[in-house]
Amino acid sequence: METQTMKAILKDSPSYGLTMKRVSVPTPPGPNEVLIKLKVVSICGTDLHIYVWNKWAKNRIKPPIIVGHEIAGEVIAVGEGVKKVKVGDYVSADSHIPCQNCYQCRTNRMHVCKNTKIIGVDIDGGFAEYVKLPEIVIWKNDPSISPEFASVQEPFGNAIHTVFAEDVSAKSVLITGMGPIGLMAGMVCKAIGSSVVIATEVNPYRIELAKKAGIDYVINPIEEDVYDKIMKLTDGRGVDAFLEMSGKMNALYDGLRSLTNGGHAALLGVFDDDVSLNINDLIVFKGIRLYGITGRRMFETWEIGNQLLKHKLVDLSKVITHVFDFDDWEKGMKLMEKAESGKVILRVSD
Ligand SMILES: [Zn+2]
Ligand SMILES: [Zn+2]
Repeated sequence: METQTMKAILKDSPSYGLTMKRVSVPTPPGPNEVLIKLKVVSICGTDLHIYVWNKWAKNRIKPPIIVGHEIAGEVIAVGEGVKKVKVGDYVSADSHIPCQNCYQCRTNRMHVCKNTKIIGVDIDGGFAEYVKLPEIVIWKNDPSISPEFASVQEPFGNAIHTVFAEDVSAKSVLITGMGPIGLMAGMVCKAIGSSVVIATEVNPYRIELAKKAGIDYVINPIEEDVYDKIMKLTDGRGVDAFLEMSGKMNALYDGLRSLTNGGHAALLGVFDDDVSLNINDLIVFKGIRLYGITGRRMFETWEIGNQLLKHKLVDLSKVITHVFDFDDWEKGMKLMEKAESGKVILRVSD
């Protein structure tokens, strides 16, 4: 029998770029596996890292591999034992595959599983017409949520996970970095009643996006002193909560400095290099609580995201700036490389 083929975007050699080509469709789903026909996918910073072949990608990715992990589609086949979904269901997926067996997984902390495998990084991903995934990561979408929004739920979940590190309702919040996740975090804070949301960002395109999305104040650290401005905006108190989304040393420093004594900081941004800080003055004597945030709580974060989207408390169209046909994927990558986009969506099928 002739093997069926599908279009997919692959890293097929250890160098800059990605390739769209025809590959075999995944084999039928085995026990606890689900086969999905993709409708819409979105491009993540991780996909861009793999595209530009940065230091992280060189160390982590073993070509050939199909990239992509932010997906929305329809279940077209299920393997033995699958209970969560059936054929015809409209689904998305968490990108982190937990082993379900380690200490963390056994103690309700699957998002920090010691043996996490990432879709489109460690196993073939979703930038394809079909993807086969383990049942554990599948999320059944509410039919009222568009496929475009559904595919963005994965980074939206990072934003929610960070915002919900502690209660930020009626609190002042600083978010450093207005990339898509920072922007979504700001929208979530507004939706759940933070008193004021202040952001820092240097990129003019992203500053505009943040203003349009309703972020109260956007400070450009090149033009203004972040600490001084925040003290003015908070009557000299400093912010109650600091969400770090940029992975930049200066942003981390400004944020910790501008945090009120006894406040909390949640760090999602990933830093290129080691960071040196005055821990005594910035953390210990201020009595702050510091959270490292990774992935999404499975599936508490998804439940919150579903509520925010289903009841239209957050409008993800403010972060989705470009929609391309699947064949035009490289246009999206180029925009992201220039940091002239919010979320970029690719339409795989109707
Ligand atoms: Zn992602
Ligand atoms: Zn595990």
